Formats: sequence, C-alpha cells, structure tokens
Amino acid sequence: MVDITNTDDIMCTTTTRVVSLSPDSPQHHQREIMADCHAMPIAMPISTDTTSEAPMMTSTTMPVANTSSSITGKRSDIWKKYHINTTVLGKGHFASVRACIDRTTGQRYAVKSISKTDSSAKPGTISREIKLLQEMKHESIIQLVDVFEDAEYVHIVTNLCHGGELFDKILEKTADDNGVPCFEEHEAAKIILQILNAVSYMHDHSIVHRDIKPENILFDSKDADSPIKIIDMGLARKHKDIEHLTTIVGTPYYIAPEVLKKKYDKSCDLWSVGVIAYILLSGYPPFNGKNTDQTHKFVVQGRYSFPNRDWKYNSDESIDFVRRLLTYDPEKRMTVEEALDHPWIVRYANQDTVMKDTEGKSSTDNVVPVKGLSKPRSLLLCGSRRKKNAQKKIRKSMFGIAA
Ligand code: ADP
Repeated sequence: MVDITNTDDIMCTTTTRVVSLSPDSPQHHQREIMADCHAMPIAMPISTDTTSEAPMMTSTTMPVANTSSSITGKRSDIWKKYHINTTVLGKGHFASVRACIDRTTGQRYAVKSISKTDSSAKPGTISREIKLLQEMKHESIIQLVDVFEDAEYVHIVTNLCHGGELFDKILEKTADDNGVPCFEEHEAAKIILQILNAVSYMHDHSIVHRDIKPENILFDSKDADSPIKIIDMGLARKHKDIEHLTTIVGTPYYIAPEVLKKKYDKSCDLWSVGVIAYILLSGYPPFNGKNTDQTHKFVVQGRYSFPNRDWKYNSDESIDFVRRLLTYDPEKRMTVEEALDHPWIVRYANQDTVMKDTEGKSSTDNVVPVKGLSKPRSLLLCGSRRKKNAQKKIRKSMFGIAA
C-alpha cells in the first residue's frame, strides 16, 4: 500500500515504461531502435517564436498559499483530491505520468507531473501547454481535468488512456508473424482518420501541434478497435497572428523540412501525419539516417521512396495519400481538409471494418476487404518475405542510430 500522504513519492519512482521483453528478443532490439525513434523532441529557440506567455490562472480547488515563482498563479495540494499511484505510465522529456484516483468519486485519471526545477521545463512552456489543453474539447484529443501546482511540480490531470502508445502497437505489429508488415490498410486508415479529425480541430482553433508522432498518440483502451487520443501539447503553439513560425521544434523522424528551414506554418503537422501513415503501412520510417543529423539531412533533401518489394501490395490510393502529405512544398501539400477528403480516407471513413464476434470481442479476422483497396487475405498470409524485409529495415535503422 502506498503512503498517500507522502508527496515525495512522486519523485521517488524513476521507473520508465515497463518492458517485459528479454534483452535478446527481436522485439527488444526493435524497442531499442524505436527508443531512438522515441527520440526526444528538439526545441531550438530562435527569434520571436519563443516568447514566454504570462502566468495563467487555473481552476484549482485549493487556496493560494504562495504565488512566488508560481506558474499557474495558485498553489494547491493535489494529494488532498487525488491518490497518485507509484507506477510510472510514461516518461517524457520534462515529466512523469502516473495514474491517479479521485478520492471522492474513485474515478481514475492520468497525472503528468512536471518538475519546475528542471531547467528545460520553462514556465512559459508549461503554462502554454495548460492553456492550450484547456481549449481542446475533442474526442480524439486528451481532455484536461485539473491542474495543481506545489513547490516543486505542476501536475496536469487528464483522462487516463488504458491502451498504450501507437508506438508500442507499431512494434507489436511489426513483430507479429502474420504476413503483414505493419497495419492493414483499413486499420491504418481508421487511425489516420482520427488523427486528421483531431488535427482539423486544432487547426480550426489556430493551434499547430508540432510534435505529432506515435508516442503522442494513445489508445483509449486495449480493444482492437479502440479510439485514439492525441496527447502532449508541450510543443503546440497558437499561430493565428503569426505568419510564419521559426522555432525548430519536433522529433527527427517526423519533422517537416520547412521546420528545419525555420519558416513554417500549420502544414508541418500534415507532414508528420504523412510520416505516420508511411510507418503504419510499411513498418519503417521514410526518413531514416544513421543519426539525427543524417535523418534531418534526408528530410531537408525530401528524399524517400516506396520500395516496390515492400509497397507492391499497397493500394495506389494509400501511396497517393502518403505522397500528397510528404509533399516537400507546404503550399502544395494537402491541407487537413483535403486529406480528410482523399479517396483513401473516404473509403474507410464510414466503414466499421472491425467486426464484433458473437462474444462481443473485436476481431480483425473477419474484416471484409474493400474492393480495389484491401489485399486479399491469402496474399497477406503469403507476404512473410515482405514482412521480414520490413523488420530487417527497422532493425537496420535502429542499430544505425544506436551506433
Ligand atoms: P512529455 O511532455 O514530458 O513528453 P507526455 O505528455 O508525452 O510527456 O507523456 C509521456 C508519456 O506518458 C506518453 O508517451 C505516454 O506513454 C504516457 N501518458 C501521457 N499521458 C497519458 C494518459 N493520459 N494516459 C496514459 N498514459 C499517458
């Protein structure tokens, strides 16, 4: 039993995510590689885009004790309202995320505790993340529930996602020996559709996320057809009155070329969605250098391909969709509305391709192929060579980066 009166407990657990893989297993190696894909976002402040915003007031329940060096404008004791579990669900650049329980209702949530003493966690960045989260009310974006601040931490309470990261699902899928390199098209399209709906909502609110990647996409539940939620507005930014953003922020594999060139707008999010779509359909990233510098170089060159051996069973529509998002010139790249209208997305948008079996469990085995798009099951099952190629590529890329 945890001593729930001890706030130091938050600091004591340094565990990252629990991984129960043997060090020699292929999945372990993939995880190591992807740990690099799971790279820290970069933030290189330059020019006017780095202006810190003024401290903001939040809807906390406790009275203000001391507002000196306060980020939210209020000090309050999260432990009075919530019990926080010791197990760390996830660790990001600035924060640790744990499950917490509302002492009155028994409802479970997630709490992201950001250390105020970490020099890289700037007060303006934390208050901006809270402010942007407060604005977001969309089924595919994590919902803010509460904010607390004590002497050492800002605690952001949100809904709890039980299904893990899309990142882990990609590893799982690439490790499955089912003849499919990663996701089947209908599965990929369903995830991308939800991401696009969330991006559309953010862009409508003049918010550019700037760090859309599989680690920031969580599954609500462990069900096969679980909805997704986009998390982490830590690098997000309002762009309404700014013609161009200039700060280099993002994560190497997913960053758009114009971000690296320091002149970009919200269309950088669409590039990142294109990278994710590419990964979901192939099992490996399109821009994949030996290290961050080389990955950035490939991104700036806009050099990527659809190797025939890996992509030959994918529909023309899926390839066209990815190509139109990984379009170098942001002016020619699809907008989020165009992406939502793309035939590949439209085909799957209104389909519930995941059938429920008689016991109510989700199953993708009964999926009815969409004419002209889905690969016949027999072909998928024969695709183990393709699968091995994809896995080989992932490993190669990861070892390259780890070297
Ligand atoms: P940071 O801003 O420090 O990168 P994130 O917000 O990305 O932190 O959270 C880090 C990790 O914690 C995520 O990648 C995820 O695994 C886990 N996590 C974050 N929010 C939730 C949530 N609402 N439910 C479950 N796990 C979460």
